Amino acid sequence: MNGTYTKAVLALGSNLGERNETLTEAVADLVDPPEVRLLAVSPIVQTKAVGGPAGQPDFLNMVITVETSLTPQELLEHCQAVENKHHRVREVHWGPRTLDVDIITYGDFRSNDPTLTLPHPRAASRAFVLYPWSLIEPAATLDGERISTLATRASDFGDLAPFDGFGDFDGMPTAGAVEER
Ligand code: ADP
Ligand code: MG
Repeated sequence: MNGTYTKAVLALGSNLGERNETLTEAVADLVDPPEVRLLAVSPIVQTKAVGGPAGQPDFLNMVITVETSLTPQELLEHCQAVENKHHRVREVHWGPRTLDVDIITYGDFRSNDPTLTLPHPRAASRAFVLYPWSLIEPAATLDGERISTLATRASDFGDLAPFDGFGDFDGMPTAGAVEER
């Protein structure tokens, strides 16, 4: 750590359990240490699970931007500690998970290391990352292209839906967000 802060983009996803509550707590956990400061929070979007076993619940996804004095590796370990706190189960690759936290970018840092590839190798083709990110950073680019352009080109773009927090509730909510069970 050298006391200077670098901007990082983090993508959060959840498709098991109390998904909204998990994302809410995860954002708080991610920015809890003084080494990680919150810059912006996207809306939550709802998306079909991409890849992995069929019949998974829909994902809730969001993006936050932070500035951090952690190194890329330290930030990855921090993100994984937050995943583990939420009892993330890693048994099925691309299977349902209570919480997934990916580092999308860390400043201009580039890495081909499989344990931490930056920018995230699949971000440029995932509308569930690109679209919420574009809402908080409209001018951001990836691979030299506007992320909003990449979002509309991504094969899952049509699967995105706004998340209104009220599940199947038809009318005025009485108390907060209702989750499907
Ligand atoms: P995915 O996020 O692709 O669905 P996982 O969350 O299970 O899959 O990640 C598997 C591994 O990916 C992690 O153990 C981590 O070391 C590695 N990884 C590589 N690059 C990144 C990145 N930019 N952000 C998060 N994890 C990464
Ligand atoms: Mg991940």
